[in-house]
Amino acid sequence: RDDAAPAFGPAARRSTRQVRVGQVAVGGDAPVVVQSMTNTDTADVAATTRQVAELWRAGSELVRVTVNNPESAAAVPRIVEKLAMMGIEVPIIGDFHYNGHQLLAHEPACAEALAKYRINPGNVGFGKKRDTQFAQLIEFAIRYGKPVRIGANWGSLDQSLAAQLMDENAQRAAPWDAGRVLREALIRSALDSAERAVEIGLARERIILSAKVSGVQELVAVYRDMAARSDFALHLGLTEAGIGSKGIVASAAALAVLMQEGIGDTIRISLTPEPGASRTQEVVVAQELLQTMGLRAFTPMVTACPGCGRTTSEFFQELAKVVQEHVRAKMPEWKITHPGAENLTLAVMGCVVNGPGESRHANIGISLPGTGEAPAAPVFIDGEKAMTLRGDGIAREFLGIIDGYVAR
Ligand code: SF4
Repeated sequence: RDDAAPAFGPAARRSTRQVRVGQVAVGGDAPVVVQSMTNTDTADVAATTRQVAELWRAGSELVRVTVNNPESAAAVPRIVEKLAMMGIEVPIIGDFHYNGHQLLAHEPACAEALAKYRINPGNVGFGKKRDTQFAQLIEFAIRYGKPVRIGANWGSLDQSLAAQLMDENAQRAAPWDAGRVLREALIRSALDSAERAVEIGLARERIILSAKVSGVQELVAVYRDMAARSDFALHLGLTEAGIGSKGIVASAAALAVLMQEGIGDTIRISLTPEPGASRTQEVVVAQELLQTMGLRAFTPMVTACPGCGRTTSEFFQELAKVVQEHVRAKMPEWKITHPGAENLTLAVMGCVVNGPGESRHANIGISLPGTGEAPAAPVFIDGEKAMTLRGDGIAREFLGIIDGYVAR
């Protein structure tokens, strides 16, 4: 046992080259950055501006928009301008496939307004055209002083590279299985494209890499390998993670394993929103993943028991929800007036079995009365019993106690 090693916690972050995306640092000693993507038609300036603002308010530090046609390219500078007028300076990333070289050529204002270009090496073009169009995209990045993300994707793998690696594999004395060859093709697509960009003249400090797949174990294998083979900053994400709890669990499982190993400089949780659900859910999940792993703090965390036959009503579940929503809503203000409030820990517990103990571990905790207990809710502040709440005003009074604690 290495006595000098920490008893628990993530491994030291892998050392990467830091990339500046607008005013946001990614990689190096910067904290893991949360990003997201709009699902509006980018050409709809009002809708896209509104959604970028929502994502930014929820905590997205970078926002990507699709730039797929001349109308969307023309809309980008207007969106950035409108956001600036609203006091929102979130870096906007343009997602290009197939025609990015043409769009950047025809819309210099778009090339200038974007803070980063995302290039998918599998969707740049074919044969000689691929090389020429990739070079054109990189030359735009150099001309406008922008970083790029070279983002390979399982669903749009560079087929010529995959075929070449299949041929090479057939010559091996002990051929790899098909899955390993495809993983290698994905990694090589990202790494070889990055080296080509460097040859063209793009600084290594302007390149972020990603290689996304939709399977948890495949993603872990791909990123471990890619991290071992380069020092480029890495964007993590499980592509097409899915809807609802499946997407959340799969993304958290994959990204947690990698971040525990110190891999990953920026993350996106690619959730398919449930019909009618807000796009901001993916930002909240990304923040909660980072915070529950102890990597960053965004908002006070609420510990709550699941409840059981000892709870007299659902009141304590409602209280846990009210408390979580209250602190999340307050955080944008507290961030300015009371920095550090995001580190607060809160506990809302259903009965005396674990209530007082868990509440003592939190900065502020409340243990509600369970079945057969006296109708009183002791409140603990910094480990000491501070008061007892009773009656109909418990929720209001408890929120007041939290606000008072933050104010002090
Ligand atoms: Fe049940 Fe009490 Fe445990 Fe909550 S703290 S799960 S109410 S026994």
